[in-house]
Amino acid sequence: MPSQTDQDPHLTTTAGAPVSDSQNSLTAGDRGPILLQDWPLIEKLAHFNRERIPERVVHAKGCGAYGTLRITRDITHLTCARVLQVGTETPVIVRFSTLAGEMGAADHERDIRGFALKFYTEEGNWDLVGNNTPVFFVRDPLKFPDFIHTQKRHPRTNLRSPTAMWDFWSLSPESLHQVTILFSDRGLPVTPMHMNGYGSHAYSLWNDNGERVWVKFHFKTRQGHRFYTNAEAVDVIGRTREGYQEALFGAIEAGLFPQWTLQIQIMTQADAEMSPYNPFDLTKVWPHADFPPVEIGILELNRNPDNYFTDIELLAFSPSNVVRGIGHSPDKMLQSRIFAYADAHRYRLGTHYQALPINRPQCPVHHYHKDGAMRFFDNAATPEAYYEPNSFGGPVENRSFSEPPLQIEGLTARFDHRTGSDDFSQPRALFMLFDDGQKARLFANIAATMQDVPAPIIERQVDLFEQVHPDYGAGVCAELDALDPPF
Ligand code: NDP
Repeated sequence: MPSQTDQDPHLTTTAGAPVSDSQNSLTAGDRGPILLQDWPLIEKLAHFNRERIPERVVHAKGCGAYGTLRITRDITHLTCARVLQVGTETPVIVRFSTLAGEMGAADHERDIRGFALKFYTEEGNWDLVGNNTPVFFVRDPLKFPDFIHTQKRHPRTNLRSPTAMWDFWSLSPESLHQVTILFSDRGLPVTPMHMNGYGSHAYSLWNDNGERVWVKFHFKTRQGHRFYTNAEAVDVIGRTREGYQEALFGAIEAGLFPQWTLQIQIMTQADAEMSPYNPFDLTKVWPHADFPPVEIGILELNRNPDNYFTDIELLAFSPSNVVRGIGHSPDKMLQSRIFAYADAHRYRLGTHYQALPINRPQCPVHHYHKDGAMRFFDNAATPEAYYEPNSFGGPVENRSFSEPPLQIEGLTARFDHRTGSDDFSQPRALFMLFDDGQKARLFANIAATMQDVPAPIIERQVDLFEQVHPDYGAGVCAELDALDPPF
């Protein structure tokens, strides 16, 4: 029998046995039936049945690429994270996605875009799981599953439901800011290269002296912002549903490597205490005039994955992945994501998802977790050191890595997150940035989705737009009146 070589590979079963015939199944007589003994056939069918894994509940449709983050400014006074030291270049993989659509959804639907980054730092993986918008629709994680249900399919019709969307939004004034961005030009970017990425949440940086500041991360596109109108997007979707995959993959294959400027905004604890709004509220930005963005690095994407499934579909991000010198904040949405993302991956990919090649840190990993489904790697500790503490030289904690303590004050209660929150000023500031053309498209984009929504829901939402700015409410009403038939 010929031996297997790299130069002359022959087909085998998963157990390595040569396959002598890949065209004909094993039958009793040339007309069949098939024998149960045909194990190459059975193995092939069994694998085929198991090719799909659960798609992500949100951000199911995505594309991604490899690249580097290069730090260009010295911020040692803010953080000891090696990934953020000037001159450091860190390998990264980025995944862009739409929020609501399923795996087969068209890329050019009006939606929030995911902008998720995994930095393979020498101190462990740092994941920044952001969006192309600096804010979100809700500020309390108790609202998140309800919100997502309104973006997904109606249980009876199995269709997307504008009624559910506007019902929820009109009953949730904290969504106004994100709704205004979603229906503005930036709600429909031409490609992932032509949009910003925002860490969105407040995070923290801490230095070797144990001093902490709050930060926001922004990745500003260096390709410029480009968007489609609704009409242009309909045309594009008629030609391709994979416009983002095509654009990103094509640009990188052609050597046109997209770049983003990494900026941070910095807020001290004293600033946070003086802030008239909750700086850890995910529906709010930190105004640039008060917290000017500081440029600290450049992100470049320059390599396409060779295997979409292993590199992008198995790619698992979690805000729980931070490294020494980078910390979380009291943002309630961030805190829930710290739990929920890792939990989702354990469900989707299994207990050992962090050991998959695409998720595996590029630094040594030492822990005492044992066994479980698909446990295929060793801990590389001595065999005796399989518990902790032990006397056999196994890995031990190192308190020099401790994050500075976070002071928490106040009563424990279910505080009403809407009490005292100004949900109108920041959407108003955004609305005032729009020129006449941008405003006209905003009004038309909103009205177009309201056509079949019951009047009381529309009236409640228009009332919220009025409170942002009278022109906002009036503009949407004028577009609704022009609809045929009028709502
Ligand atoms: P600034 O005028 O200093 O900042 C304006 C920001 O808005 C810029 O980052 C700009 O992004 C972005 N922007 C400009 N045009 C649009 C648009 N058509 N759609 C969405 N974003 C746009 O003001 P403030 O910092 O006081 O913020 C005012 C409003 O701008 C906020 O309420 C918020 O809605 C929006 N915004 C603020 C951000 C922040 O971190 N402060 C970040 C993004 C938006 P770019 O530089 O990429 O052009």
